[in-house]
Amino acid sequence: MAYILQQLLSESAKRYPGKTAVAARGKSFTYQELEERSNQLAHLLQRHGVKKGDRVGIYFPKAVESLACMFGIMKAGGVYVPLDPQAPSERISYIIGNCAIKALITTGDRLHALSAEAKNSVEFSILLGPGENGNVPHTMPWASLLEYPADSSPQIQATTTDLAYILYTSGSTGRPKGVMLSHQNALTFVDWCAETFQVTSDDNLSNHAPLHFDLSVFDVYNTIEAGATLYLVTEDLTLFPASLANFIRDRQITIWYSVPSALVLLLLHANLKAENLKRLRIILFAGEVFAMKYLRQLADLVPHVDLYNLYGPTETNVCTFHKVDRERLGNMKHLPVGQACANTEVFAVDADDEIIEAGSSREGELYVRGPAVTPGYWGDVEKTQGAVVPNRFQPNFEEKMYRTGDIVTLSVDGDYYFVGRRDSMVKSRGYRIELGEIEAALMSHPGVREAAALAIPDDEIGARLKAVVAPHDFGALTAADLQQHCATRIPKYMIPELIELQESLPKTSTGKIDRVQLAQAPQPVAQ
Ligand code: AMP
Repeated sequence: MAYILQQLLSESAKRYPGKTAVAARGKSFTYQELEERSNQLAHLLQRHGVKKGDRVGIYFPKAVESLACMFGIMKAGGVYVPLDPQAPSERISYIIGNCAIKALITTGDRLHALSAEAKNSVEFSILLGPGENGNVPHTMPWASLLEYPADSSPQIQATTTDLAYILYTSGSTGRPKGVMLSHQNALTFVDWCAETFQVTSDDNLSNHAPLHFDLSVFDVYNTIEAGATLYLVTEDLTLFPASLANFIRDRQITIWYSVPSALVLLLLHANLKAENLKRLRIILFAGEVFAMKYLRQLADLVPHVDLYNLYGPTETNVCTFHKVDRERLGNMKHLPVGQACANTEVFAVDADDEIIEAGSSREGELYVRGPAVTPGYWGDVEKTQGAVVPNRFQPNFEEKMYRTGDIVTLSVDGDYYFVGRRDSMVKSRGYRIELGEIEAALMSHPGVREAAALAIPDDEIGARLKAVVAPHDFGALTAADLQQHCATRIPKYMIPELIELQESLPKTSTGKIDRVQLAQAPQPVAQ
């Protein structure tokens, strides 16, 4: 049993040295190659001063080297921080400063685009791809790691509660926040998956989610744990459903994991054919509600495939699951998020601070306890204290639990059902988005006086984003100006597709923006 994530690789490298571990963009690493590259990177990082607990950023489009980086950074005792290669450089510069990234593995153009402050704060960078000659101070090319020992990793004293990685998610106050995850947090989930889905060395897994997204934790570590093969779905492939369908067929994918919107896209636009999905045995989906009509279509299309709805926030990874029962699916109005994974306890607390009982019609906020719960948000004690709270239902010793902010009900048979959020976090195309972060981006435009972001429910992508904005000078600003401005601050998936300009925003009796009234206004129909 592994107690730190890099053991999973070292063990599989001994058992399956010549087997392909990961493939993407026409390139692959065998288990031995991945083990060796990550050992070499660990030595290089250590040699250049990376010490236990130091943060190292991974900032380039998905590639086989991404996995070498993840394992290499952990082998050096560092904490890896996957950075969205498509996010505006302003946002990445903020994250680099926020968690004091010491070293960055990136491309020349991305390094160049960072703010001067971010560039100065990073001690050194390793450059991949074009411009990797390293002719810039404090940079070195990726190939320089080949000079370091490959057969073993540096000696580090590590324990299961050490941090392994930090995943940045949208923050309600306008800035992303870093969720810290330890080896134990990740392994609690990985071990549960290994047992539940019986991943074997014969499996071919896909990695659809971006690497800064917690869905990818299953793809990467369960592949490596089992000695299976991981096929990375590169960013360009996610845009073309037909290519994605061919990818599943050609790579003989056996286990697929993605947000439901990606599956809906495949269903509606890829002309999926059962005969091309013969080897597929499991589809896992998580991150948002799967509209029942599309789930039924999927279940009919692949009658031989087991379908699972996994639920959980980045702060705990998956904490409940439900195996889709095709016999019941026809009569179901909503799909449950199911019951707690082994080694995790969940319960829902109602408005009277009582734990709700199975079959009661009450709604409650879901809490999670167990070894999967994050230690908190990087550098933000206040936010951590608001979300990772003492377990008041167990007064005898100190223990923390995570408040998810998700409102649920609990059926007689013990299944939880997701109802909605208690705050203004929304999901669009499976991305977690705080409406407050969109509003902060809009408000940072000097011409904006007031702004409200809204999520319009949508079966295909979860929610479409809209903003209503009151400018200082009505007529001097257009929706396109604001969208362009947003593109410099927030990722593409957060930019409202519709921005309505008004003289002023409606107010409640207490003078706040009346979001209920804004949401009730007739909304445009999706194209
Ligand atoms: P993230 O941190 O990006 O994984 O987003 C976590 C949030 O996504 C949860 O707090 C829920 O609001 C939502 N979510 C995750 N899984 C599901 C699911 N299976 N069904 C409905 N909502 C989900």
